[in-house]
Order: sequence, then structure tokens, then C-alpha cells
Amino acid sequence: QEEVLHRQDKLAAVGQLAAGVAHEIRNPLTSMRGYAEFLQLDEKDPERLEFLNIILDEIERVNTIVEDFLVLAKPKAVELEEKNIVPVIKTVISMQEFEAIKKNVRLHFDCEQKNILINCDENRLKQVFLNFIKNAIEAMPNGGDLYVKAMIHDNNVQISIQDTGVGIPKEQLKKLGEPFFTTKKQGHGLGLMMSFKIIEGHQGKVFVESELNKGTTFNILLPAKKTA
Ligand code: ADP
Ligand code: MG
Repeated sequence: QEEVLHRQDKLAAVGQLAAGVAHEIRNPLTSMRGYAEFLQLDEKDPERLEFLNIILDEIERVNTIVEDFLVLAKPKAVELEEKNIVPVIKTVISMQEFEAIKKNVRLHFDCEQKNILINCDENRLKQVFLNFIKNAIEAMPNGGDLYVKAMIHDNNVQISIQDTGVGIPKEQLKKLGEPFFTTKKQGHGLGLMMSFKIIEGHQGKVFVESELNKGTTFNILLPAKKTA
């Protein structure tokens, strides 16, 4: 297993810049959305309505990227609250059910505990799990199995996300988490960078194990909240 959460210094400068740009883009984007929605209200021409819908969809797409970048601007100490992550993981898995069916991927969730408490920022962790699960599904273009497991190990919670997909070539392992590193036509190579950043904000670690044409396992370790 190789630890992949590192290079944070190099990322810090890129992150600050990206967050600054994202912040500047957000305001004009908000007013663009406002005016487009306003025009949509009493537009009767179906073709124009269709164009306005496309504009709004595209604004939404830019907005998602901008929001992602803004994560980088957040100070390291995010607001952490004690949360049970079992239902959080379940929610994220069910969000991907439709995508999985389309791609012929079977989803498996395995967890013995009903309660696994973590001091966390629930929404950000949700985003992290979603990123890993999406990547796993995207790594199985011909279908396969996705195993998500959550367990407590000593003082850590381990969440593993294992796919039976294409795997990652050795020389690419060290690029994981670099901004804009992607091997996908439609990818933007920000998901892992954001995820690592968020996990770092939770004092966590990430390990990866991968074999070409066999699959990939990401192990996320997060400090467990001591339960009474
Ligand atoms: P994106 O999904 O937009 O490409 P990510 O940061 O999420 O960006 O992932 C970066 C790259 O890491 C992917 O393009 C892919 O090459 C590789 N990768 C991530 N997860 C997996 C996985 N489960 N299996 C194979 N490759 C992966
Ligand atoms: Mg991704």
C-alpha cells in the first residue's frame, strides 16, 4: 500500500490561487444565473426556452467547479461535528445506484457497526466519498463490483473503496491528487485533490493499492471518536 496524501506544500500555492480565482468568478456567475432565470420566467418561445435551459445548465456546471475550488480556500481547521458516518456512506452509495445500474456495476456495502462516530464536516466528507465512488464506477466501463467497507481499527475508522476496474499504472500513482491530473476525456482532475485536502483537514490519511486490469482499492483512515 502506498500513501498518497502528500505534496501539500506544492498544492498550497496552487490552491490559494485557484480559490482566489473561484471567488472572483462566483459573483458574476450568480448574477448571470439570476438574469437567465428572470428571462426564463415569461419566455414563451420554446426554442428560446431551450437555449435558456442550456445556459442555466452550463452556469450550474461552472458553479460546481467553482465551489470545488473554494474548498481550497477554507482554513485547515474546518468546523468538525460528531457524526455517525454509516448513514452518510449509505446515502452516497444510494445516490450512485442509478449510475451503477447503467454501467453494470454491482454495489456492495459492508459494515458491522450501526454507529461509527467521527468528528467531521459531514457535507465535505460526503463529497469525498462521492468522489471516490464515482471514480471507482468510472474505472469499470464494462461493469464490475464496487465494495465499500467501513470498520473500526484501533483508534481509526477505515473506509475502503474497492473496484474491479482498469487499475492505475505504477507511474501514475504518484500523480494522484495533483491538480488537473486526469486520464478521462470528460474529467477535470480535481476530485482527488479536493478529497485529499478535505481528508487532511480531518487529520486523516489515504492509501492506495492497485493492479492493472484487476482493480483499485483506496483506504481512507480517519481518527475515530471514542465512544463510551
Ligand atoms: P477525474 O475523475 O476528473 O479524472 P480525479 O481527481 O477524481 O479526476 O481522478 C484523477 C485520476 O485518477 C483519474 O482520471 C484516473 O486516472 C485516476 N483514478 C482515480 N480513481 C481511480 C480508480 N478507482 N481506478 C482507476 N483510476 C483512478
Ligand atoms: Mg473523479
